[in-house]
Amino acid sequence: MRAVDYDKYLRAAHVPHIWCPGCGHGIALKTMVRAVDTMGWEKNDVCMVSGIGCSGRAPGYVDFNSLHTTHGRAIAFASGIKLANNNLNVVVVTGDGDGVAIGGNHLIHAARRNLDITVLLWNNTIYGMTGGQVSPTTPLGCKATTAPFGNYEHSFNIAELVAAAGGNFIARGTVHNPIQLEKLMVQAFSKRGFSFVEVMSPCPTAFGRRNKLKSAPAMMQDLKDRSIPIAKALKMEPDDLDGKIVTGVLLDRDKQEYTDIYRNLVANLRGA
Ligand code: SF4
Repeated sequence: MRAVDYDKYLRAAHVPHIWCPGCGHGIALKTMVRAVDTMGWEKNDVCMVSGIGCSGRAPGYVDFNSLHTTHGRAIAFASGIKLANNNLNVVVVTGDGDGVAIGGNHLIHAARRNLDITVLLWNNTIYGMTGGQVSPTTPLGCKATTAPFGNYEHSFNIAELVAAAGGNFIARGTVHNPIQLEKLMVQAFSKRGFSFVEVMSPCPTAFGRRNKLKSAPAMMQDLKDRSIPIAKALKMEPDDLDGKIVTGVLLDRDKQEYTDIYRNLVANLRGA
C-alpha cells in the first residue's frame, strides 16, 4: 500500500476520535484521506461537509475546509458552497439516517441537478449516534431500539435511488476492502457531476450487538461474505442477490453538469 503522510491531513487536536472500538468509520476516514492524497488536491481546495451522526464527525478530524452542519442538511450546505465557489472540491460525508431519511430530499435533488459534488454515504444500517433507531437501510427483520421485535419496513437500495434520481457516477464498496474503496473514491472525485459512493461500514455497538452479528470481526467477515463484484452480479438472478452487497462502479454516465448549465445561462443573458 502506498505510503501517505496522514499527519498532514489530520487535526491532531481533535483526536482521539469518538468512534467505538470496531467501528468501520475509521477505515472509511483513512480511505477517504488516501483518496484525497491520490488526487493531489491542495488542502485549501477541498471542502468537506457533514450533517449529524457518527459519520458527521469525520470532517472535523481532517484539515480541510470543514463544515459540520445540521441533521440532514449537509448536501444543502454543499450545494450553496459549490455554487458560490465552483473551484472547490466539495465532498459530503453523510450516513444512512442523515443522508437518506432526514436529508433524503436534498440527496435526490442534488443528483437530479447533477451538481458537481461527491457524496460519500457511510451506510451502517442504523442510527448509531442517536441511539440505535431503525434507519431507511436497516434490513427487514433486524432489531433496533425502535424495532425490538424486528424491523417491519423494507429498506432502501440507495444506489438505485440515486441512479433513478439522476446521479452521474454511482459506486459501492465496503470497509472490508479499502483498496477497492479507495479506487472508487478516486473515480468519484475525478468525475464531473454528481458522484456518489456508498460505503458499507459496520456499527458493532448499535446494530451488531442487537442482531446476530455479535462482534466487530464477525461484522467484517459478514461484509466480506456478502460482497459480490458487479461483473459477477450482472450474471446472477435478482433473487440470488437478495442480501448481497454488490460492489464496484454501478453507474457511470455523462450528463451536463448543473453549474455549467447555470453559468451558460447567465453568460447568455448578459450577452443578450
Ligand atoms: S455507534 Fe456505531 S457507527 Fe457510531 S461510532 Fe459506535 S460503532 Fe461506530
